Amino acid sequence: MYSSVIVPLVYLLAAVLFIFGLKFMAHPRTAVRGNLFGALGMLLAVLITLIDLVRFEFIVGGVLVGAVVGGLLAVKIQMTAMPQLVGLFNGFGGGASVLVAGASMLVVGSEVAASEAGGGLYVMLTATALSGLIGAVTFWGSLVAFGKLQELDWFRKPFHVPAQQLINALLLLATLGLAVWMITSDSEMARGWLYLGIVLLASVLGVFLVNPIGGADMPVVIALLNSYSGLAAAATGFVIDNNVLIIAGSLVGASGIILTQIMCKAMNRSLGNVLFGVLDAGGLAGSADEMYATVRSTSADDIAMLLDGAQRVVFVPGYGMAVAQAQHAVRDLGRMIEDRGGVVEYAIHPVAGRMPGHMNVLLAEADVDYEQLKEMDEINPTMGTVDVAIVLGANDVVNPLARTDPDSPIAGMPIIDVDKARTVIIIKRSLSPGFAGIPNPLFAADNAMMFFGDGQKAILDIVSAVKEL
Ligand code: NDP
Repeated sequence: MYSSVIVPLVYLLAAVLFIFGLKFMAHPRTAVRGNLFGALGMLLAVLITLIDLVRFEFIVGGVLVGAVVGGLLAVKIQMTAMPQLVGLFNGFGGGASVLVAGASMLVVGSEVAASEAGGGLYVMLTATALSGLIGAVTFWGSLVAFGKLQELDWFRKPFHVPAQQLINALLLLATLGLAVWMITSDSEMARGWLYLGIVLLASVLGVFLVNPIGGADMPVVIALLNSYSGLAAAATGFVIDNNVLIIAGSLVGASGIILTQIMCKAMNRSLGNVLFGVLDAGGLAGSADEMYATVRSTSADDIAMLLDGAQRVVFVPGYGMAVAQAQHAVRDLGRMIEDRGGVVEYAIHPVAGRMPGHMNVLLAEADVDYEQLKEMDEINPTMGTVDVAIVLGANDVVNPLARTDPDSPIAGMPIIDVDKARTVIIIKRSLSPGFAGIPNPLFAADNAMMFFGDGQKAILDIVSAVKEL
């Protein structure tokens, strides 16, 4: 009664909570409630699984180790390193699927074989092979993505693999071949070795798939790996016959695919182009000095004077705002401008920062009114009427090379058209490039001025200067 009725019912309740959680998370106003629903669903799913298990000392051990590691990470991690951490968690999800599916096949495979008709065994083995393949690609792909987001030296430039696409295709074919062999094999020992082979080849494939991707295409990859981690979990749900894992994995897989599509649209790329396109970030770096010959810089006092006469001011935040944790200072400056009769808006590029929704989260944390956040498509047609655009720690998302240089790694990506505003102030510490590693001609534009410095300090200096007007 307990295992056959109560457990499935609680799993169903957890699944309903996940679905409502996702629905509520679709809007910033209800996002906190959505998060709580999701967490409650997960708590129920974990508790009922623990109670349902006859021997759960290993699980308790795992939970303790996981809680200590997770707790330490959560406390120690810098807010700016959050995207890498999320990327790493995707990878851990994939890695866990590989281990659970493999162990399950080795430990219970023979029992299933003995007790079930062939169909049940084939379903389990197919799901195991898929878990191994998708999980290993996710794990290693996510580790490479972590290295790129963390800007580790090793990952700054992709390593060169001759005939990369051909090798990837051969690796995939070989992995699928091993999978078919494993599914049709009668020997348990052979299945174990074949599973190991699948995992090894898929691991290399994961590294090779993410290695050449960089620059502005990373958001798409992160979203895709997120989706893969869900698919791997769903496949593992079939292996261990656990409904809640199948449902939760499918939800992650589906929402990850939707996010991937949104990111592709934001970047004006097709998924095939991101995954199989050849990228050469940094090819323009040599021309930066020439491009920056006419750069002008300005001061907090001059910016305050500009803002004093401005009727419409648009802030364009980017990754640097997150690094500088300048969102509260920006909110204060925005309110001061409003108190003086100006209209203030925030232009949000879909890939600004290092994770989807990064800027929205930071500005919401600083209590900026949601109505003031304008999406790129909404604000761009009106950029010509903006008196002052303040670009705060953003670079790639305002780089006009996306429109003008077809060889640039961000070619074709829609940008926030700040260059069309009457005056553009760019706040950053230096003329260094952004994530895509390319120079930005905006810095030298006739209507642009640089205000060099840390984002938070720069905004606080402008706040003081406005107060003194
Ligand atoms: P960029 O990475 O293009 O530029 C950020 C700029 O912030 C840098 O040029 C840096 O210049 C400046 N900066 C860093 N620290 C500070 C600071 N303390 N104070 C002031 N400025 C600072 O950021 P964007 O947001 O414009 O673009 C995002 C990029 O990241 C895109 O290429 C996108 O594809 C990629 N990406 C996005 C993901 C997402 O999901 N959103 C995921 C992965 C990658 P300086 O050093 O001179 O100060």
